[in-house]
Amino acid sequence: SYRLHNNDKLTPITLNAITAASKLGGEVSCLVAGTDCAKVVEQISKVQGVKKVLVAQHDSYKGSLPEELTPLILATQKQFSFTHICAGASAFGKNLLPRVAAKLDVAPVSDIIEIKSPDTFVRTIYAGNALSTVKCNESVKVFTVRGTSFEAASTEGGNATSENVAPSSPTGISEWLEQSLTKSDRPELTSAKVVVSGGRGLKSGENFKLLYDLADKLNAAVGASRAAVDAGFVPNDMQVGQTGKIVAPELYIAVGISGAIQHLAGMKDSKTIVAINKDPEAPIFQVADYGLVADLFKAVPEMTEALSK
Ligand SMILES: Cc1cc2nc3c(=O)[nH]c(=O)nc-3n(C[C@H](O)[C@H](O)[C@H](O)COP(=O)(O)OP(=O)(O)OC[C@H]3O[C@@H](n4cnc5c(N)ncnc54)[C@H](O)[C@@H]3O)c2cc1C
Repeated sequence: SYRLHNNDKLTPITLNAITAASKLGGEVSCLVAGTDCAKVVEQISKVQGVKKVLVAQHDSYKGSLPEELTPLILATQKQFSFTHICAGASAFGKNLLPRVAAKLDVAPVSDIIEIKSPDTFVRTIYAGNALSTVKCNESVKVFTVRGTSFEAASTEGGNATSENVAPSSPTGISEWLEQSLTKSDRPELTSAKVVVSGGRGLKSGENFKLLYDLADKLNAAVGASRAAVDAGFVPNDMQVGQTGKIVAPELYIAVGISGAIQHLAGMKDSKTIVAINKDPEAPIFQVADYGLVADLFKAVPEMTEALSK
């Protein structure tokens, strides 16, 4: 079994995917494809549970386009006959693995949260309201892994061998031009230990400053509900939920968020949930460990103030 990464730093979800792959019981190989990936190869070789690192370097892997990576995966599959192919259920993995599965003519299993046996997986359905256990009879099992459901593999103690594989010839059907990343000094949303999220109750994008100030005191990432995103308060890469990011931090603070099922689908596995809402009937209080019925415009600055002392 194996999975992917990119660039000069290992993506955190890779470590969760490696843990999932290790649970299958076989040897875990990782495929590293990129333009200049010596650093990643070094990092991943030390990850516990990884036996072999396959390395393919070519200019056409710039931007990790699924159109270019799929032929590479198919070629390595032909060479090594893996039993399973997996990746994190990130935008990258969700973009790539369905294409790979289609080319292999197998049905992929997406966003698994548990591995029962090498051919039986658990995944959520109905926005996380029900769990479905799926037995996969395909010759090669292709699946994506929900990062929050598997511990990160340790980045030390491993001792994998690495092997170069021939890069596939470029397909040239799409081209990577540029990416503009949101610059932020705050931690990344899906891997932050603390997340402060705001909803429609914030009333404007400017008012999110209240959350940024609080987040900076807690070294937290800032998220949002879809209503806040749809209203244009914040960009959509901040959205938490069924159609946004799935997070499971140590502490999740929901501010002015009602707690719709589609929002809960993205955060209900958080260790401790705090809700601040002026409506005591808001459904968010049903999942909250600590609930504060209060006006957020008063409560949030008070919290920030208290943390400043
Ligand atoms: C297919 C589908 C997918 C979806 N995906 C997502 C998703 O990924 N993520 C997501 O979040 N939603 C998603 N939604 C939308 C979801 O159903 C809700 O509409 C949305 O989560 C509501 O956002 P909200 O809680 O910010 O807004 P509201 O439901 O309007 O809640 C605002 C809350 O703020 C409180 N409030 C207002 N003023 C104050 C104040 N001064 N002080 C304290 N509290 C205050 C109110 O009491 C209220 O509870 C999806 C919906 C569908 C149909």
